[in-house]
Amino acid sequence: AKRLGRNTFRFYSATMHEKIRERRLIEKELRQAIEENQLSLVYQPKADMKGQQILGLEALVRWNHPELGWISPGTFIPIAEETGLIHPLGKWLLHSVCVQNRSWQEKGLPPIPMAVNLSPYEIRQEKIVEHVQEVLAETGLEPQWLELEITEGSLLEDSFATLKTLEQLKSLGIRIAIDDFGTGYSSLAYINRFPIDALKIDKSFVDKIVLGAKDAKLVDAIIGIANIMDLTVIAEGVEKEEQLKLLESFGCHQFQGYFFSRPLPADAMEEMLRQHNNK
Ligand code: C2E
Ligand code: CA
Ligand code: CA
Ligand code: CA
Repeated sequence: AKRLGRNTFRFYSATMHEKIRERRLIEKELRQAIEENQLSLVYQPKADMKGQQILGLEALVRWNHPELGWISPGTFIPIAEETGLIHPLGKWLLHSVCVQNRSWQEKGLPPIPMAVNLSPYEIRQEKIVEHVQEVLAETGLEPQWLELEITEGSLLEDSFATLKTLEQLKSLGIRIAIDDFGTGYSSLAYINRFPIDALKIDKSFVDKIVLGAKDAKLVDAIIGIANIMDLTVIAEGVEKEEQLKLLESFGCHQFQGYFFSRPLPADAMEEMLRQHNNK
């Protein structure tokens, strides 16, 4: 047991060391990637429950490093948050999404809201409201076509300051959605104090609804209450038709997931928008 313990320790410290090195490398490379425009965006549609119309898009960041290849946002976003790089990255994201949306509108596509994920570190940054206002002014995008996705978890920390920030953002005329709902262990009563438009049910719940009656009932209840609260309910990570059918019967309004479409680069998304929304 002792030997195992020592080996385990050695193994553990080597991993730690590697992790620190990997982190430093990613930090350095990410800084450069932001400056040199190596990052790109993909867009995932939010569809109505019949899968006919696209009612919104979510922008997701992608990083194709010249030597390291694709690095997942799940890897680099936390590093960006720890190192403060989330701020220039977030600015770039917000600006790019507003420019893209404006450009599609100018091409005559029917306007739709486009969502950007906002890290809790960005919400807690003092200048965020000013910054969003600047981006809207610079790009000329009407605020109703911009949506910010904020995780449920970020409402739990520093909730007074967050409430004030969200109220100011809301007063600009943009939309606010609660992301990953169900993972933060907060209640809808709590959520209701914040000025929000939409609720996104986390994929982990959507995954379970076909399996057990208990989880399906829970999601049913959440959607019921969200409807009473007049929130748009969006299910994320829908991969199967059964999930979609159940969610529809619960009164869910929109869904996102591979069953409708994976996130797509701008040109492919434009094509899809023409097919679905230009009738
Ligand atoms: P999220 O905001 O919950 O985004 C949804 C994630 O689920 C995306 O992964 C998306 O590609 C994936 N997804 C969508 N539909 C399905 C499905 O049907 N099945 C499965 N298995 N997955 C599906 P992605 O793009 O890797 O992003 C992961 C997380 O990284 C996001 O979770 C978000 O928290 C963060 N992230 C991504 N882009 C950004 C960004 O631009 N800014 C910030 N702050 N965070 C981002
Ligand atoms: Ca999201
Ligand atoms: Ca989500
Ligand atoms: Ca999620």
